[in-house]
Amino acid sequence: MTIKLAPSMMCADFLRLGEQTQELEAAGADLLHFDIMDGHFVPNLTFGAFVLEQLRPLVKIPFDAHLMVEEPDWMIPEMIEAGADMISVHVEACRHLQRTLALIRSSGAKAGVALNPATPLDSLRYVLDDLDYILIMSVNPGFAAQAFVPAAKRKAQDLKELLCQAGKEIEIQMDGSIRPYNLAELAAAGAGNFVLGSGLFGAYPTIKEGIAAFRAAVK
Ligand code: MG
Repeated sequence: MTIKLAPSMMCADFLRLGEQTQELEAAGADLLHFDIMDGHFVPNLTFGAFVLEQLRPLVKIPFDAHLMVEEPDWMIPEMIEAGADMISVHVEACRHLQRTLALIRSSGAKAGVALNPATPLDSLRYVLDDLDYILIMSVNPGFAAQAFVPAAKRKAQDLKELLCQAGKEIEIQMDGSIRPYNLAELAAAGAGNFVLGSGLFGAYPTIKEGIAAFRAAVK
């Protein structure tokens, strides 16, 4: 089973962010996930496009910006300018979701929709032609190191079924409390792209060993 691993930079060591970015690429991370929080949509703040911009020249793997931002349209051009290759937005944060997805795509990035644990899959039904990936939150967004919301696994299965019925092959990303012990069952449920936060950073002697542990979980 081929899966993608997407370490979340909000859990990285901010005192040596550049070095750690290169370490993640060397360890085999497939992409880097940037959790952008605005203090309104979620009760926390992280960082903006300037962090991606500074890290972009250091590695080649794609940058994935997960915008936990109210009315994020203003931020999309600057994220793309800073080097984001993929941008996801939350259903509840966009007054005109289809328009926002079209804006992301027309700016040259892959467009994703992020679903909170309570957000129904039906909110995607009429935008399937407008998106490139779907992010299922397996915790409520805002903080690292929270407990996995068990219904997220069933949601991945239900989404896989919905996509099959619609004849769509769309990547499912899962974000929140991903660990080697739940990775295989979530991959079997239909997810193919996994955001790694506190399950990776600080959980192993080295980043390299951590990435290897996640890879081994689906072998
Ligand atoms: Mg995220």
